[in-house]
Amino acid sequence: MMRLARVVLGILIVSATVATGFSQQQSALTAEKMTDNIYIVKGGMANTGFIVGDKEVAAIDAEMMPDQAQKMIEEIRKVTPKPLTKVILTHSDGDHVNGLTGFPKGLEIISSSICKKEMEEAAKAPNSQGLQAYLPSRTFSDKLDLDLGSERVQLLHFGPAHTSGDAVLYFPARKLAFVGDLVFIGRDPLIHRVKGGTSTGLIKTLQALLGLDADRYDPGHGNIVKKADIESELKGLQEKQGKIKDLIKQGKSLAEVKAAFGIPDTPAKPGGFSFPSLVEVMYLELSGK
Ligand SMILES: [Zn+2]
Repeated sequence: MMRLARVVLGILIVSATVATGFSQQQSALTAEKMTDNIYIVKGGMANTGFIVGDKEVAAIDAEMMPDQAQKMIEEIRKVTPKPLTKVILTHSDGDHVNGLTGFPKGLEIISSSICKKEMEEAAKAPNSQGLQAYLPSRTFSDKLDLDLGSERVQLLHFGPAHTSGDAVLYFPARKLAFVGDLVFIGRDPLIHRVKGGTSTGLIKTLQALLGLDADRYDPGHGNIVKKADIESELKGLQEKQGKIKDLIKQGKSLAEVKAAFGIPDTPAKPGGFSFPSLVEVMYLELSGK
């Protein structure tokens, strides 16, 4: 069941992204310079980016569709003629990795080892559209230092959070980090329980992000955030966790806990899909169900 759920998650991410309300308007992709050598690419379903090294370019995430990936490469070409040699992945969700098939074959694809496992599962689906040929070729467990000459980046994995295999790209010299879907502003954070994500792990990870010497964090969706934004996400999560723990102690059922938070108990529309609410994810996690 878990395996099926994982595969389904990889495929359904297209509609799910819309269902969870953080879809970004599909428009032309545009690269914005964040600092020397580091760019964010906006306009796709998820934010991506790239790093210009001495001799090469490394992409950060891969867009959701192959044609978007090709547009991302066009944006890179406007900035530099250096060859694209690497793609670094923040996590395994389809809106961040399914565009890999629009990249040339043979690039070095870097992810956490758990992210690779999640992608291997997704690639087994009959309609995974060639992802099998784009599985990560270099992985790390907790930390990987990547030296691109003009730019150094630390890839950090702090444990399960949004998924089991999230990675943060930290540029210490720039006080900057790309954080994938670990940070959401203006909505509940999304935790994929079917991929082993946990709220307790997300709290730990947000604390680790606050511990970095950084003042700008690029989320997978939306605009650049600051430490204060992460602090408020962390506070909200901790408060919600505390309240749910209390309700569990009082012996409340999932339906009662959802009602206490005003979460409607409506199933997804036929043919539709939506992720379970944060309250439901937390209840199941904290009650050990
Ligand atoms: Zn995600």
